[in-house]
Amino acid sequence: MDDSTTMSSPEAAKRAAWSRLVEQLICEHCGAKPRHGKHTGIAFHHRDPAAKKFKVGTFGYLMNAAVLAEIAKCDIVCRKCHAHIHYGMRTGYLTPNL
Ligand SMILES: [Zn+2]
Ligand SMILES: [Zn+2]
Repeated sequence: MDDSTTMSSPEAAKRAAWSRLVEQLICEHCGAKPRHGKHTGIAFHHRDPAAKKFKVGTFGYLMNAAVLAEIAKCDIVCRKCHAHIHYGMRTGYLTPNL
C-alpha cells in the first residue's frame, strides 16, 4: 500500500483503510465484486429502514462500534442489486432471493 502521498491526517488514513476494506466486499445477492478501486460499487442496504441510524457509506470509515452495529443491520450488495431492492420497495414487491 502506498500511503506516501498527502494522506497524513488520521482521518485520511482511516478513509483509505475503509476503502481497501470495502473493495474486498462481495455482493451478498449476486456475488459480484465491485470494480477495483471503486468502493462505491458496494452499498450497505438497511434491511429495516426504521432501524437505520446513519449511512454506512458516509461514516463507515470511522470503523467504530456504532459503525459495526450499523453494518450488522445491513445487507452488503452491489449497486445493481441495491437498485433492484429499492425498486422492489417502491412497487411494494420484494424479490425473495435475488
Ligand atoms: Zn449484486
Ligand atoms: Zn438500500
